[in-house]
Amino acid sequence: MRRETKQRQAILRVLRNTRAHPTADEIYEEVKKEIPNISKGTVYRNLQVLQEDGSIAVLNLNGTLSRFEVKRHSHYHFRCERCGQVFDLDEPVNNEIDKKVAERTGFKISHHQTEFRGLCKECQQPSK
Ligand SMILES: [Zn+2]
Ligand SMILES: [Zn+2]
Repeated sequence: MRRETKQRQAILRVLRNTRAHPTADEIYEEVKKEIPNISKGTVYRNLQVLQEDGSIAVLNLNGTLSRFEVKRHSHYHFRCERCGQVFDLDEPVNNEIDKKVAERTGFKISHHQTEFRGLCKECQQPSK
């Protein structure tokens, strides 16, 4: 039980210290530096638990690898089509859309996710 908590804390620490939206494998590599004998399965299981208790958010749009982040105020994302990096955007989330769609459809909307796609600044540089 204690061990579980320690592992979970380590995962959260990794996620709090990055804005890179790492994949489960990347999180595993980081956590391993702190807890060398941790297994991949343990990391995956703890990510699941953290997701269920609402501590972290998962981005898995369009069948891409799931990426994780600690829950912050809601924000949009930009995903580079070349290098696959995911960036947080400062663009304010438009909650009006939820209301509008709810009114039109009768659906109960909890939130919406939008991902912008294109090339990040680095990938726009002519042939490196
Ligand atoms: Zn890029
Ligand atoms: Zn984000």
